[in-house]
Amino acid sequence: PARPHRDLVLPSGLAPCRQKHNPSIRIMQWNILAQALGEGKDGFVRCPLDALNWQERKYLILEEILTYRPDILCLQEVDHYYDTFQPILASLGYQGTFLAKPWSPCLDVEQNNGPDGCALFYRRSRFSLQSTAHLRLSAMMLPTNQVAIVQTLCCRLTGQRLCVAVTHLKARSGWERLRSAQGADLLQSLRSITSRCGSRGDSEGTVPLVVCGDFNAEPSEDVYRRFSSSPLGLNSAYKLLSSDGQTEPAYTTWKIRPSGESCSTLDYIWYSRDALSVDCLLNIPSEEQIGPDRLPSYHYPSDHLSLLCDISFREEPHRLM
Ligand code: NDP
Ligand code: CA
Repeated sequence: PARPHRDLVLPSGLAPCRQKHNPSIRIMQWNILAQALGEGKDGFVRCPLDALNWQERKYLILEEILTYRPDILCLQEVDHYYDTFQPILASLGYQGTFLAKPWSPCLDVEQNNGPDGCALFYRRSRFSLQSTAHLRLSAMMLPTNQVAIVQTLCCRLTGQRLCVAVTHLKARSGWERLRSAQGADLLQSLRSITSRCGSRGDSEGTVPLVVCGDFNAEPSEDVYRRFSSSPLGLNSAYKLLSSDGQTEPAYTTWKIRPSGESCSTLDYIWYSRDALSVDCLLNIPSEEQIGPDRLPSYHYPSDHLSLLCDISFREEPHRLM
């Protein structure tokens, strides 16, 4: 079957004809499902093992990425960085960096391909690199098994800087407080990085920020509240798909395990709402498009949907007023 067709749509309430500012920056967020976890640990009981065969599934992942050709690509559960994504995406003009989880559960799976982790790619023709931070997230001062990559990029077209972060927070229910603490730690690092890099003499001195991640947290969780109310002034891009602009999609992941069906919103693209605007978003496939056996499947390679939006720098911000 064909891949679900998805449309790029305008944020609700936005007139189709709007002042054209800087060329937009296309951002993709995607938990691609670690090969070792999908085959060895996840228990996707309605997905035939055949549909998880890496030699075919990798092309479905690459097809999804290359269909939209993002300028910035944020991935979680990458356990084929060095043998697949780094070389292939490098040949297509991307610069990548990878950070493995300290104790990846992939390593428990027989015939694993190494640890899974987060990867961040940017298009070399569009950005130059200013700085990279590889973070191991802490919770209550203690190091955890979750990581983040933060890069400050400089747009070659405009000279504007953009800070991009990718993370994958602790999974499973019962770990809400740990996720919240990990989120707090990441926010603290982001405050420090964006203010340090932004000290160009201007009063604000902060670099606009995009944070992509599988937060493993519904919007009702504390870590979501932390991000939406942080002093960094972040908004969640996918809320802009809803008619009121305030509601997250009904799901970003949908799977069936022996324990039952799990349909939830766990993945987010956060952006600095005062400095950046969202020009369009890739809509979420319908229940019918996803199909009765849910994800992953022969036509979609991960249990998480890719999220994609075009953002641009707002024209000289309100502080001029
Ligand atoms: P997490 O709980 O964050 O989950 C790891 C992965 O499991 C995620 O990618 C997650 O996917 C997936 N997952 C979530 N729910 C389920 C489920 N119900 N069934 C199957 N998979 C699921 O893991 P941690 O990073 O905390 O690591 C825990 C594992 O790491 C341990 O089980 C152990 O194997 C290993 N470990 C080993 C240590 C050692 O000393 N050797 C020390 C610490 C950990 P998603 O995000 O998509 O939900
Ligand atoms: Ca997973």
